[in-house]
Amino acid sequence: MTHSHEEQPVVGVETGVGMAPGRINLIGEHTDYNAGFVLPFAIEQHCLARIRPTVDAASDAPLIVHSRQSDSRVEIARGDVVPGAAWIDGPSGWAAYAAGALWALVDAGILPRGALAAEVELDSTVPIGAGLSSSAAIDCSVVVAADRLFGLGLPPAQIAQLATVAETRFVRAPTGGMDQLVSVLAERDHALFCDMRSLQTELIHFDPSANGLEVLVVDSRAPHQLVAGEYRNRRLACEAAARQFGVPALRDIDEEELPRRLAGLDDDVLRRRARHVVTENARVLQTVELLRGGRIREIGPLLVASHASMRDDFEITVAEVDLAVEVLLAGGVLGARMTGGGFGGCVIALAEAGTSAALATAVDEAYAARGFSPPAHFVAHPGDGAVALAR
Ligand code: ADP
Ligand code: MG
Repeated sequence: MTHSHEEQPVVGVETGVGMAPGRINLIGEHTDYNAGFVLPFAIEQHCLARIRPTVDAASDAPLIVHSRQSDSRVEIARGDVVPGAAWIDGPSGWAAYAAGALWALVDAGILPRGALAAEVELDSTVPIGAGLSSSAAIDCSVVVAADRLFGLGLPPAQIAQLATVAETRFVRAPTGGMDQLVSVLAERDHALFCDMRSLQTELIHFDPSANGLEVLVVDSRAPHQLVAGEYRNRRLACEAAARQFGVPALRDIDEEELPRRLAGLDDDVLRRRARHVVTENARVLQTVELLRGGRIREIGPLLVASHASMRDDFEITVAEVDLAVEVLLAGGVLGARMTGGGFGGCVIALAEAGTSAALATAVDEAYAARGFSPPAHFVAHPGDGAVALAR
């Protein structure tokens, strides 16, 4: 294959294919932007991205993005592949996760702008908008596909960082980078302990099935409402609390000093927001310690406490989510909690192997009795991170 236009990079393969998974956060919610700890694992559901440079492209050939799921094709003039372009807020905005990934590579000086003369095809099995990070699955799979196509050999941490830039600077989604770290760095039967201040990560053995357990996921399908505004409010509250404590971030407050610190706050809402973040960080560390010690069966109470904290102190759960947790706990699971940013999304439960079908039926019945629309469910297996495929 030859390229007539000098802007076009020389490539070793004609198509780059990348696969990147969605994720579940086992514990550590709203701790990321407080420079704290999270413990996500990748799921087997993933996005496949296929990139083909536009052969013999005119120098102004557009970027084309398809998705099997949105069943549409978006053509973006190369000059419009910039953060803040009007189309990003319109009906074609879904294509921004892919366009942003290529833009991040161009913006970092890794690829020339000519690399945007390409066609990207997306095909994803990650439930969309359910809090399982269908968005990171796209931006990570596209960076991995481009890495392969252009023979870049980028280190995994940089792939995650570029995918994060796509989502924060191009899509302008308020996300902290956890999703991309785990989508790229995950390994089967492990969770990824992430320090969101240093961005240091450590794989922690997390293998429910080897312990006679399984992770049941219930997607509440509750309508997401006010999510962006509420998310911003929570961030502002956390920043205000940190300011009043005189620390750079809530990460810097220890659980032992919390009662004394909280007594010094004048506002009850701030007090509860801060208490969630500080105790949640402690719960992540405790979960990591138990998993390191092979004590997976003992993490249940930490999951339950995390949910109570999100419900009562951080106030980010909704009735559908609380009901699923309640029914699962009544059904005898070891622990259950909402996962993800909140106001809908998914609940996870650590359950005895083989019990998920009956538990799911119990949740379905409880939803029907309350007049909620039926939830979705599946058993999640901690899976591998992103890879480039032969093609
Ligand atoms: P989550 O990452 O939890 O699924 P987000 O709101 O961060 O939720 O990302 C969901 C958005 O990502 C969708 O609204 C859509 O724009 C885009 N998206 C995800 N998967 C696909 C897909 N397969 N095809 C098209 N767009 C997708
Ligand atoms: Mg997302």
